[in-house]
Amino acid sequence: MARYTGSVCRLCRRENLKLFLKGDRCYSDKCAFDRRGYPPGQHGQRRGRKISDYGIQLREKQKVKRMYGLSEKQFHLSFQRADNQKGITGTNLLVILERRFDNVVYRMGFVNSRTQGRHFVRHNHFLVNGKKVNIPSYLVKIGDVVEVREKSRKIQALEDALDAVVRRGIPQWLDLEKENLKGIVKGFPSREDLTMPMQEQLIVELYSK
Ligand code: SF4
Repeated sequence: MARYTGSVCRLCRRENLKLFLKGDRCYSDKCAFDRRGYPPGQHGQRRGRKISDYGIQLREKQKVKRMYGLSEKQFHLSFQRADNQKGITGTNLLVILERRFDNVVYRMGFVNSRTQGRHFVRHNHFLVNGKKVNIPSYLVKIGDVVEVREKSRKIQALEDALDAVVRRGIPQWLDLEKENLKGIVKGFPSREDLTMPMQEQLIVELYSK
């Protein structure tokens, strides 16, 4: 599946928000957004550009899609799934994105970014309820126990990520037993738990056109 291979920092600058796509670097003074917090490209610093309602909705969708590192197709499938559920579609969408396995291992602190989470999941470094799961889009369920496989426990990147997780904290809907390299899904996040600035209603409006 086609995937963006350019500079990810450019995406933060384009969306005018730190998307935290590069792990440790995002918290350092090397962060490109902190250094140059204006859109990339020749006209990036031009002021006063008018943006249509469609443009606003599109930017919001791009921002959330990029935050979770999904392709257009994957993101749209998540939206369709959310739309088929009971409740508020926008909130359903965000909860589905949070429940993705690559996001959960990131939230639990086993990896430093969702991209790294995707790689580690694909390379069979995790078990869910004692069984190998290597599908980044797997949606965790309440009560799922996620743990690092025995043979992967010495990987330095995992240890580094667990040391760094204190900086961003573990969300209250997850639990981490750091010494056992194990995490538990206590529940699903509520809208209030998702603190990144996201206006999901704009995404619903975009896809409802
Ligand atoms: Fe975004 Fe992180 Fe790059 Fe900063 S370092 S611009 S937060 S990806």
